[in-house]
Amino acid sequence: MNRKDCIDWKGLETYLSAEVVVCGGGSAGAFAAIAAAREGADVLLVESQGYLGGSAVGALVMPYMTVRVPGEPRCSGLHNELDNRIRAYHQEKHIQNSFDPIIHGILLEQMCRESGVRILLHACVCGAKTEEGMSLGSPASGKSKRICAIAVACKDGIRKIEGKIFIDGTGDGSLSVLAGAGFEAGNPKTGANQPMSLRYFVGGVNKETLGRFLDSLGDPDNARSGKSGGGLFGCVVERRDSALKPIFLQAVAEGDLWEQSMAYWTMFEIPGRKDEVAFNNPEFFDLTDACDPLQLTELQLRGRAFIYKELAFYKKYFKGFENAYISAISIVPGIRESRRIHTKYRLTAMDVLGQRKFKGCISQCNYPVDVHGSEELFREDLPAGDPQKPWYEIPYDCLVGADLENLLVAGRCIGADFVAQSSIRIQICCHSMGEAAGIAAAMCSTKSLLPGQVSGEEVAERMRERGADFV
Ligand SMILES: Cc1cc2nc3c(=O)[nH]c(=O)nc-3n(C[C@H](O)[C@H](O)[C@H](O)COP(=O)(O)OP(=O)(O)OC[C@H]3O[C@@H](n4cnc5c(N)ncnc54)[C@H](O)[C@@H]3O)c2cc1C
Repeated sequence: MNRKDCIDWKGLETYLSAEVVVCGGGSAGAFAAIAAAREGADVLLVESQGYLGGSAVGALVMPYMTVRVPGEPRCSGLHNELDNRIRAYHQEKHIQNSFDPIIHGILLEQMCRESGVRILLHACVCGAKTEEGMSLGSPASGKSKRICAIAVACKDGIRKIEGKIFIDGTGDGSLSVLAGAGFEAGNPKTGANQPMSLRYFVGGVNKETLGRFLDSLGDPDNARSGKSGGGLFGCVVERRDSALKPIFLQAVAEGDLWEQSMAYWTMFEIPGRKDEVAFNNPEFFDLTDACDPLQLTELQLRGRAFIYKELAFYKKYFKGFENAYISAISIVPGIRESRRIHTKYRLTAMDVLGQRKFKGCISQCNYPVDVHGSEELFREDLPAGDPQKPWYEIPYDCLVGADLENLLVAGRCIGADFVAQSSIRIQICCHSMGEAAGIAAAMCSTKSLLPGQVSGEEVAERMRERGADFV
């Protein structure tokens, strides 16, 4: 179905303007804004929700998946700074790579404000005005275009924001698409995006009792107290045996659980929350289109109904949940993949699996390909990896908008194929992409350049100077 941007631009006064306008304040967008501001740019960060942190905060997504490069971490300087602030907050209760989502958001807000980022919350980007561009030809149209303003939907209607360089950190590539950029979406074999989830936390849990119960099952890979390190953990997923599975099957047989709860279920700890556990579920393989409001509505309604039933299941079939209650439910849907924007370079499955290296590398990672529910996709033509340097790299060119000359894209919606996106979407990579986009945007602003004229090697060098520990 076609939807049209029908903003009456002529009747709109400029509400705000900035040299660098970052749309979306999640893992990538918040980092982009901080990096650009610290490089001296005038930055406005526009976010549709009432907090910063995106999925890490609103969808309760934690811990940071590690990049799995030997001699870790291989992170951006800003990530290391945030991680240090998180450790300082949690102190002895810190669990490696994990964080309390609320604190994560507050710390990001602190970092933005300290760096001089202007923040506009409760403003949803709903339109983009383009004009003829300056110097770079667009491969798609033969004519270059640039974004000159965005429209944001606020409580009192539509407002206009002007800028010179725009960074799309919306996760869904919404700014890019509204401005007319080309994009891909979903699994090329089925057209479906990755499944969406609705995470939640349960409080009032007696973790001693729960831990003993998990250890008593004798399957430490899938059920453990975590006393020997790493925290409490439980797991039931399709195509993998787990000592917890018979318990789930019995509950399904007795009508105490819906079968879909077994498709993907994991339980783990939240640092600093002594009687709470987190769940990375329920996950719905029939709800995949994150840009369709009806599917998002169904995800949140059905998700909460599942969560309610799952709580009763824990109380009846597990130990330690006698006084348990639901302490948090994601306020936004958990979206793994939606749109992937056309950029100067498109990262491919072969680059990821072949552990390809690039000039102008802005992120290094060896997190595996992680396509929920369809593994056959990447089993064909496996390229040989690189035993000497077992990781792949994301080049700066994956962030440079192909169809709009003043657009940078950062986060899970960068230019990548379906399989590559399933690996690069982890938060640490999104942080690096955000920092790189912010540094590049500031370079554009101070040197009057367009993102396509900025050297990826210079961006990478600046990231190193700012504390990135790339090899
Ligand atoms: C269920 C689930 C589990 C995951 N597990 C892990 C994990 O354990 N570890 C890990 O590292 N990664 C995990 N991931 C992946 C990771 O969380 C995401 O890929 C990553 O957070 C994406 O970051 P982002 O900045 O691209 O998008 P987001 O963090 O989602 O940020 C996008 C921001 O843009 C805002 N926005 C959107 N549209 C607009 C608009 N039109 N106007 C203004 N603002 C807008 C949103 O409100 C949001 O704040 C998981 C993802 C999901 C969904």
